[in-house]
Order: sequence, then C-alpha cells, then structure tokens
Amino acid sequence: MTENLDLLGQKLFGFVDMNQEGYAIFDAQDYLIYCNQAYADVMGFGVSVLVGKTFQEILVLCFNEDKGVKVETKALDEFLARVKTQWRSESYRLFEIETNEGEWFLLSEVANNHNEVLIQTKKITEQKVLENKLLESRDKLRQLSLTDELTRVANRRCFVDSVDAELSRCRRLKKTVAYMILDLDYFKSINDNYGHHAGDQVLKHVAKLVKDTLRDYDIFGRIGGEEFAVFLGQTQSIEALEIAERVRQVIEESPLHLDDVTIRLTASIGVSLCNASNCTYLELYNEADKALYRAKREGRNRSILYNSGCSLD
Ligand code: GH3
Ligand code: MG
Ligand code: MG
Repeated sequence: MTENLDLLGQKLFGFVDMNQEGYAIFDAQDYLIYCNQAYADVMGFGVSVLVGKTFQEILVLCFNEDKGVKVETKALDEFLARVKTQWRSESYRLFEIETNEGEWFLLSEVANNHNEVLIQTKKITEQKVLENKLLESRDKLRQLSLTDELTRVANRRCFVDSVDAELSRCRRLKKTVAYMILDLDYFKSINDNYGHHAGDQVLKHVAKLVKDTLRDYDIFGRIGGEEFAVFLGQTQSIEALEIAERVRQVIEESPLHLDDVTIRLTASIGVSLCNASNCTYLELYNEADKALYRAKREGRNRSILYNSGCSLD
C-alpha cells in the first residue's frame, strides 16, 4: 500500500511537473520550495531563479524587471502591503493577475495544516479579453444611451434621472433647489435662414457655453429640440436668478461665427424655486415652464423667476 502510494505520488508529481497549468509550493515562512516550469513562465523567470525566494521577493523581482506579475503602481511598498493583507487571508482563495507579457491568469491559493501554500495558475487570457470587450461595449452603450448625440450633454432621460436622484437627496436635507429651462429665441428662423446644419452648430455652441458657465455640481441637459434645462441644488432665489442671468448674457455676448456669417443668439429662461422637501420634479418643471412662457411674452432675451403671477398668463 505504502509502496503504491509512493509510486502514485511519483506519477502525480511527474504530471504536475510537466503540466501546462502552473504549480508552486511556498513553505510556512513564505519561501518558494517548488514550482514547475509553467509557474516559472507565468512569473517570467527560470525555476532556479525563483526557488528559494519569498513570495514578496518574487513580486519585487517582477516589478524591477517588468516581467511576470504586472504591478500597476509606482508605490511598490503600498502594493506589497496590500498583497500581504490578502496573502494567506483564507484557507482557499481565488484571484486574478495580469502579466507584463499581456496574459491573464486565475490563481488559486490553498493552505494545508502545516501552513504550506499551494498555488495553481490557469491561463484565462481569452476569457478576460472577451470579458473586457463586453464591459467596454456595455459602458459605451450606457454612455450613448445617456448622452445627447449632437451636443454631447446629458439627454432628457439622463437629465431627469439625475435630477430625480439629486432631488431626493436634497429632500432629505431640506434644501432649496432651483430649476431652469432655457429656450433659444427665434431658433426656427436660424434654421430657415442659415440651414439645419447651422442650427445644429448653434445647439452645440450653446450647450458648450452653458456648460462652461455652470458650476461642476449643477445638472445640465438637453431636454428638447432647442430647450436645455439646469438643476441647481442648494440655491437661494437671488443666486438662481443670477446664474440664469449669467447664462443668458453669455449667450447674448457669444454669437456663433460660422464660415462667413455671424449668427447672433439670445435665449429666454424660466426659473422655478422650491424647498425640496415639498416639491416634485414635475412641479419644478411646470413652474419653470410657466416662467419661460412669460419671458417669451415679455419680449424674450430675459430670465424670469416663477411666481404666482406666471400662472395667470
Ligand atoms: P421662440 O422664440 O418662441 O422659442 O421661437 P422658436 O423659433 O425658437 O421656437 P419654435 O418652437 O417655433 O422652433 C423650434 C425649432 O427648433 C423647430 C425645430 O425645427 C427646431 N429644432 C428642433 N430640434 C432641432 C435640431 O436638433 N436641430 C435643428 N437644427 N433644429 C431643431
Ligand atoms: Mg422651444
Ligand atoms: Mg425657441
């Protein structure tokens, strides 16, 4: 029986030694006491170079010579400290590594009751490349579905979702919030006089002007043809009107020069304001829309803050 076991052990070892999957054994003090050729290949060094080194020393070697395990940091100490917290953290553990040679491996780490660790590596480059491609296209699709194709700002859906989320946060904090609808004046005549392409360029131009005028944390989007909207969290009425006026002025003062024509632009802006704890998106939108209607009626190129008078129109 013992003889049989010895024989089996030798056979097993023979298989492990020539296996395409990597095998390595570290002793209780973390020194590599055995690895096969496949493991050495993953690490980028010969078996004789690796055996006798600790796991950490092998990582330092990989880092210094840009071989084997890819260490994606300039701060090697931090990386080693992080690895140390994970290494031997469980009796069985799976993790992935990328190598400087552009391959990916799934590693399993298993400890026995002498505190020796067996590492096994399995090449997963093809699965990983496919997975990364899928993730990339998912992100691209997500981005496309949220971005207005022409102006590259948030589209209506993305804008409304973002405002809804922010509104509920402001609701908890009982903040005053403001909403602005901006509508270009006589935009139809720009299309009629200069063509649809020029109209498109105007929309891109205005989107950029508004975006550059707003603060990073304001939410901005294109909600219709030549209509843009802005949500201002934590804003008092004076401030909201000041921001609206700043945007309006920037548009008035920044005509679009297109080929040999200069297209002058103005916009009307309706602003609504409320305490987030007692208003909905729809109320904010409707009140801003009424204020916008009033701005149009009163001659355009102006910003108006909603008040009960706006409803009488
Ligand atoms: P007002 O001052 O009252 O707002 O007048 P207006 O001409 O701006 O308003 P109106 O709603 O009559 O016209 C909006 C026009 O916007 C009509 C539509 O053809 C045009 N439009 C909508 N989307 C686009 C677009 O993506 N590109 C271009 N070039 N035009 C668009
Ligand atoms: Mg309009
Ligand atoms: Mg318009």
